[in-house]
Amino acid sequence: MSDLSDFSKTTPQLETVDVQSIPTGIEPGSGSGRMKFGEAAPRKKNIPKGLWTKCGKCAELIYDKDLEENLKTCPSCGYHFPIAARVRLASLVDEKSFKEMDAGMSSVDVLKFTGVASYPSKLERYQKSTGENDAVITGLCKMGPHKVALGIMDFSFLGGSMGSVVGEKLTRLIEVGTRKKLSVIIISTSGGARMYEGMFSLMQMAKTCGALAYHSEAGLPYISVLTHPTTAGVMASYASVGDLIVAEPGAMIGFAGPRVIKDTTQAELPPGFQTTEFLLDRGMIDAIVTRNQMRESLINYLDYLTAGMTKPKANRPPRKKAS
Ligand SMILES: [Zn+2]
Repeated sequence: MSDLSDFSKTTPQLETVDVQSIPTGIEPGSGSGRMKFGEAAPRKKNIPKGLWTKCGKCAELIYDKDLEENLKTCPSCGYHFPIAARVRLASLVDEKSFKEMDAGMSSVDVLKFTGVASYPSKLERYQKSTGENDAVITGLCKMGPHKVALGIMDFSFLGGSMGSVVGEKLTRLIEVGTRKKLSVIIISTSGGARMYEGMFSLMQMAKTCGALAYHSEAGLPYISVLTHPTTAGVMASYASVGDLIVAEPGAMIGFAGPRVIKDTTQAELPPGFQTTEFLLDRGMIDAIVTRNQMRESLINYLDYLTAGMTKPKANRPPRKKAS
């Protein structure tokens, strides 16, 4: 016979996870009821590491395996957690269809930049922690019936900052897309230009947009997908010039951060300022798409954007000779 006490004995790690034990900061008789800084920290040790994650929005505890299966979105409130570029890639493209481009390209320390740490040592650290050479993955892939030139940024590599490698990889991707008459999709997440490369980073804004202009002149569609956060030099260049601009819910999107804007304008910012939902209301983005619906939606958009476009010759059925 198994009863509840047996269950707790055999699964000791589950005993400690009890939603009721998560501190709310409002203890009976605690007066103001406001959480004091650091108050909640000591009781966190009850949550076993690597098994559960607490949702950043609704505070629900989510079993890590469920979180992975749900593409790192909260099953309760839909909050979108950060996701690695490779995981996102796998959720979007047809299996085994991705042909990566310029995978070995990595940054050079042109300015001999040294701050708290040298640029090469930073690069090495992030290359080790992410397994990527820089903050973007690019390549050609299939998404349903469409062949696509796809770029996906990774925020966990130096804040998704745009240095010369990010700019060059995306430019090459767009140029290949133009030559092969493919739609381009870029999924952005970035803190902006990479300060370690100074002017070389800022140049990438013009370079990527130049390539996109040629792509557009060829009558080919470009979809920009904004994810949390997409800001500064990336938002001020290729991320904001899509034929269609879609964004994940709750993402922060803007140029300067809200604190800087508030300090500069000396004005109160409206609620929800610089979020996806705020920008949809004001027409800056075209649609909000959840991560779980992203692949299907992108295929639908491509169906629409490429309808009536002439297919490359190789894909056409052989023409019958007139007799
Ligand atoms: Zn949640």
